[in-house]
Amino acid sequence: MDKKILVVEDNPLNMKLIEMTLKPRGYVLLKASDGQEAFITAVTEHPDLIIMDIQLPGVNGLDVTRKLRETPSVSDTPIIGVTAYAMKGDREKIIEAGCDAYLSKPVDTRQLPELIAKMLLTKYKANPSS
Ligand code: MN
Repeated sequence: MDKKILVVEDNPLNMKLIEMTLKPRGYVLLKASDGQEAFITAVTEHPDLIIMDIQLPGVNGLDVTRKLRETPSVSDTPIIGVTAYAMKGDREKIIEAGCDAYLSKPVDTRQLPELIAKMLLTKYKANPSS
């Protein structure tokens, strides 16, 4: 069965870029543009992986991730946290919130599918300090 990926992104251009990167690889894409929609879509659709923008209107990506981790049906879903400003300590904060991996924007269109493939294959956990 095709793997389902939930893409959480409020910027239409970034969403389009991720879509164009992943569609040709046969993934089924679900989309959400704010934190609340992201949470609801995750618990109702049970995606195989979530790409989570951290800067979102309303509930931010860190809080959505924390809430997902406390929800038994989605507590193990792999999450890639994506952020525009890679400030010191951001990576640690994102991993601490419960994301398994971290990418900075603009998303590298080669790195993203490689990371996804790796995460769908085996349990992956980024080192928060590297
Ligand atoms: Mn954003």
